[in-house]
Amino acid sequence: MTQSDINKGALLVLNSGSSSVKFSIFQLDAESAEGVSPLFAGQLTGIGTDAHLKAKSEAGEKLADEHWAAKDEGTVPSILPHLLVWIEANLPADLPLITAGHRVVHGSEVYDKPVLVTPQILKQLESFSPLAPLHQPQNLAAIEALAKTRPDLPQVACFDTAFHQGQSDLYSIYALPKRLTDKGIRSYGFHGLSYEYIAHFMQQEMPDLAKGRVVVAHLGNGASLSVLQDGKSIETSMGFSALEGVPMGTRPGSIDPGILLHLMREYDMGAEEMEKLLYRECGLLGISEISNDMRDLYDNPDPRAQLAVDYFCSRVAKQIVSLAVATGGLDALVFTAGIGEYCADVRKRISGYLNWIGIRIDAARNDVNAPQISEEGSLPVFIIPTDEEIMIARHTLKALPA
Ligand code: ADP
Repeated sequence: MTQSDINKGALLVLNSGSSSVKFSIFQLDAESAEGVSPLFAGQLTGIGTDAHLKAKSEAGEKLADEHWAAKDEGTVPSILPHLLVWIEANLPADLPLITAGHRVVHGSEVYDKPVLVTPQILKQLESFSPLAPLHQPQNLAAIEALAKTRPDLPQVACFDTAFHQGQSDLYSIYALPKRLTDKGIRSYGFHGLSYEYIAHFMQQEMPDLAKGRVVVAHLGNGASLSVLQDGKSIETSMGFSALEGVPMGTRPGSIDPGILLHLMREYDMGAEEMEKLLYRECGLLGISEISNDMRDLYDNPDPRAQLAVDYFCSRVAKQIVSLAVATGGLDALVFTAGIGEYCADVRKRISGYLNWIGIRIDAARNDVNAPQISEEGSLPVFIIPTDEEIMIARHTLKALPA
């Protein structure tokens, strides 16, 4: 399959975890500037316990809401062939599946763009697993499973790290001995597909601002911020792992590394216990002891909930200022992802810390999640809904052999 063979067909986009798979289907669309348009999307959750398929068409029509006990052999790779059958049964007969694009968390220093996966490349990507042990093996297991079921289907890996690969050493190393930096212990950054989507959107919709200095706050269950200049990543808050930077639903964000030494020595904590603590028990959930979900916290009068939300907002505000140092100032601020797109209260609290740098939010616009929420005379502040899936679909199409 090459680009010149393709004029009609469908693309599968997969984001595979340990017990769930999110999928989106796009069709080639010569009319659309990007060459693809969405058809339907869904997710398989609870794989191994109670596999459940939900899917909707682009127009919002329910396509599936069914339990898959009989098809669930306990793992994502074993259920994927069934998902593929379901997807193909729901595609119009004249739209064959022609390729699959995957979200792959780590491309290390090797990949600054997506790559068409071959068996050799898959092996190389497996060698990056120690850099992202919780996600990389799951992402790659899906590629392997699909290759077994459909060896003819070209598959493309799109990396969360790739967009940040152009950063200078100044913003991508740690103050560690050079011998450790040379072993790859450096800042990679994540959420790159989201930042790339925002950069591209701005280039299309607000080209002058896109050339400037823009902090993008990707505030979802996982959260990070990046400062872009002329659409390129200059510095980002997440680093070697997805733990650094601002607090998240269940991750603490940056903490004093001395705390980890203390936990190892005084509480006898090993790597696994520490991993569980840092990935699952901290952040909004840790502080509030109520929930990791901002929807349960921002208007909850419990002081623990309010402390968690204030901690989150103050650290995001601090991060915005800190990133703007790298670009010598700021021309726009963008909010995106679940919290950034929908939680007016959080945006208001964050901007409350930033009036002194000229960021002021218009309450009425903010309350309705308007595209531009800044007051007249403020530094422009936007809400731009992110779309990592369409970014993967566009990349996948481009990465097919010419
Ligand atoms: P993920 O990182 O899993 O892709 P999302 O970008 O979908 O996450 O964001 C999910 C998070 O967004 C939820 O955990 C929740 O905290 C937050 N969220 C979504 N909608 C709202 C809302 N209306 N108000 C406040 N927070 C929200």
